[in-house]
Amino acid sequence: MKEIKEYVKDKKIELKEKFDSFKEKYDIEPSLVIVQIGDNDASNTYIRGKIKDSNELNVKATHLKYETMTEGELLSLIDKLNNDKDVHGVLVQLPLPKNISEEKVKRRISPLKDVDGFNEYSTVVPCTPMGIITYLKEENVLIQGKNALVIGRSNIVGLPMAKCLLDANASVTIVHSKTPLSELKDYVKKADIIVSATGKYKMLDSTFEFKSDAILIDVGMNRDEEGKLCGDLEKGLPVKFQSPVPGGVGLLTRVSIFTNLLKLMNENLNK
Ligand code: NDP
Repeated sequence: MKEIKEYVKDKKIELKEKFDSFKEKYDIEPSLVIVQIGDNDASNTYIRGKIKDSNELNVKATHLKYETMTEGELLSLIDKLNNDKDVHGVLVQLPLPKNISEEKVKRRISPLKDVDGFNEYSTVVPCTPMGIITYLKEENVLIQGKNALVIGRSNIVGLPMAKCLLDANASVTIVHSKTPLSELKDYVKKADIIVSATGKYKMLDSTFEFKSDAILIDVGMNRDEEGKLCGDLEKGLPVKFQSPVPGGVGLLTRVSIFTNLLKLMNENLNK
């Protein structure tokens, strides 16, 4: 399997060509608006990455950053962006301040512009599962008939990930914080593909038994004892492939924003 960094590099070349030919064919400049409320450190880093990707892909990125905002003001801004024909993708960076309901915001972004895929009526898959499943398929990982284990059941990662694997004909098990450790160990032992999305450092470590040809995908973004960025999994587990953190799923997630933007732009051409 290609390392994720290499895979993403190639993927970006492919996407840039697609955006460029879209621009040339329809004379439309692809445009993404990123809305941020507050000054969360992690959000600042993620947004810098998204803007860098936009520049590389020739997509116009507009970063609207506000110190504070009421829920009503944010919803009105989303309405304005939903109605702006020169804006093709709208992304509201999470987490939001406590005075704003994330659920209301996710529902308010038009499914036609929802690059994150968080709206329940969205036609695109949320970016993290979308990036992972595309990577596995394009790297020819056999999914059909395999045992896939998804650790975590959030609406933005665990559940859509399980659905993607199921759609690719894996036999899928979802576990969560209430799954007894002894059961988890049994599931891990049998799994061909494991996606861990818990936010728990060393969720799986060398005390677990793995299939030697297992594929481990680490979604977690945590800090280790020294404060360094790390995933859910102990490094160097005895398997065929383990995705790194940093330099792994985060890159796949970022690139999927643009795969989704392109898909939405194509779908919306005649609307
Ligand atoms: P949530 O907190 O919404 O969900 C975490 C899930 O993990 C829950 O379903 C929870 O179970 C489960 N869980 C927690 N502890 C355990 C445990 N001990 N055993 C089994 N399951 C457990 O997080 P997200 O899904 O939003 O994100 C998960 C992680 O992925 C985070 O570290 C986040 O930062 C990272 N992330 C990374 C992205 C990337 O691009 N790299 C993108 C999105 C997220 P329960 O439901 O029972 O509470």
